[in-house]
Amino acid sequence: MEYELSVGLEVHAELNTKTKIFCGCENRFGAPPNTLVCPVCMGLPGALPVLSEAVLAQAVRMGHALHCDINRVCRLDRKQYFYPDLPKAYQISQNEIPLCSEGFLELSGDREPVRIRIERIHIEEDAGKLVHAPDGRTLVDYNRCGVPLIEIVTAPDLHAPEQVGWFLEEIRLILRCLGVSDCRMEEGSMRCDVNVSLRPVGAAALGDRCELKNIATISGAVRAAAYEAARQREILQNGGVIERETRRWDDVQNKSLPMRSKEETADYRFFPEPDLGTVVLPEEQVRTLLETLPELPADRRRRLCTQYGVSGYAAAQLTADPARAGYFEQGMAAGLCSGKELANWILGDLLAMRGLEPGEPFIEPERLAALAALTEQGKLSRTAGKTLLAALPSSGLSPGELARKMGLLQENDSAALASIAEKVLRDYPVPVADYRAGKTKALGFLVGKCMAASGGRGNPAVLRRILTEMLDG
Ligand SMILES: [Zn+2]
Repeated sequence: MEYELSVGLEVHAELNTKTKIFCGCENRFGAPPNTLVCPVCMGLPGALPVLSEAVLAQAVRMGHALHCDINRVCRLDRKQYFYPDLPKAYQISQNEIPLCSEGFLELSGDREPVRIRIERIHIEEDAGKLVHAPDGRTLVDYNRCGVPLIEIVTAPDLHAPEQVGWFLEEIRLILRCLGVSDCRMEEGSMRCDVNVSLRPVGAAALGDRCELKNIATISGAVRAAAYEAARQREILQNGGVIERETRRWDDVQNKSLPMRSKEETADYRFFPEPDLGTVVLPEEQVRTLLETLPELPADRRRRLCTQYGVSGYAAAQLTADPARAGYFEQGMAAGLCSGKELANWILGDLLAMRGLEPGEPFIEPERLAALAALTEQGKLSRTAGKTLLAALPSSGLSPGELARKMGLLQENDSAALASIAEKVLRDYPVPVADYRAGKTKALGFLVGKCMAASGGRGNPAVLRRILTEMLDG
C-alpha cells in the first residue's frame, strides 16, 4: 500500500525583547548562570507577573506576517507540570484563546507553491536549562526562565521532509526580517517539535501520529521527519499499528527513540492565569503593527526578480540573508551594471571571500558594482576581475583606476588587436592552413596566441571576431 506523509510543526522561537516576558530581568544569552533572575521568574511566593507589551507587539507582528487573525481579546493560562528547570511547577502559556490564529504561509520561489496553514501562534515563557556536568552532577541555570517565546503551530500540511526544511527556513527568514528573533539555533533560540503521521493515499483521516520533541536544527527536523516516516511505513507495511507517543530525536545516531506515551492536554490541568487579567489589544495598535511591517522575504524575492532581472534562484540566495539583499540593492542603486552581473559577483566570489562577514575586509557595494560594470562591458576578464576583487579592500582607488594601475584592463582597441592578429597569422601558417581546410578548432589556438601576445589583456571575443574576418575574408 502507498502511504502519504503528513507533518505538522510546532516552532518555538525566543523573542529578542530587551526584558523577559513577565519581569524586568534582562533577556540575554550567555550570562553567567543564575545572574539574570528575580523573584518573579524564579516563581517565589507572592511575586506577581506583569505582561511585557513588547512581547505582545512582536508576537502580533509575526501573526500579521503569517496572515493570522489577531485575537485582540485573549488570555494566558497556567500549564502545570513538574520539571526541575521550572521552579513554579507551571508555565504561563496560552491554551484556549491564542493571540493569533488561522493564518497561512505560502512557500513559493523557484518551486511549486504550497500553502501551509498556521493554526495558531501563542506567547509563553521559556523554562530554565539543565546542565549535565562531566562529573555526573546535573546543575540548573534559571537565566532562561521567563524568556519570551512564541509557538507557531501548523496544520499537518507538510507532505515531504524537504518541505519541512523549506518551511522552517522561510519562518526563520521572516522572524529575522521582522527582527522578532535572532533564531540562533546553536543557542536554542529556535527549536521545533515535529509531528509525523502516515495515512493510506486517498484516505481522509490522518493516521496516528508520533511527536518528535525539541529538535534544535533545521537539518535535524528534516532528517527526523524522513526517519520517522520510514519507521512508521515499515510498521504499517508489516501489519502493525502506530503507538501515539512522544519520541526523542537523537541527532548523533540519526534516529528517534521512545520517550513517553503521549500526554493528553487534560494532563496539564490548564486554567486561566489568575495573576494576569484578560489581555485587550487596542484595534488601532493592531492596525499600526500591520501597516509598519517591513517587506517580507517572499515579496522581496519577487521584487528583486522584476526590478533587477535576476533569476528566481539568485533572488532566493540574495534574500536568504537580509544584509546580503541590502548590499545588493545598495550596489544596484549606483546604476552601473545589470542585476545579473552584480548578483553573480556577490553570490560567487564575494561570499567565497566571506566579504559580508563582520571582521572581514569590506568592499563597499558601489565599488563592487563598478567592478561588475568592468567585467560586464568586457573591459575586464572574469579572471582579471577576481584578481582585482582580492586587491580592492586594501586599495583606496576606484576599481577602474586600480585595474589600470595593475595592468588588468582588457585591450578592446581594434586597431591594436588587429596588428597583433596579423602578426600571429604570419607566424603560424600551419594552423592558418588547417583552419582554411575546415579544421575550425585551429581558431582557438590562434586566439590563444593573440592573447599571449597581448600580455593576457586582449579581449578574446574581439580577437576571435578580428581573426575570423581576416581568415574568411
Ligand atoms: Zn526576573
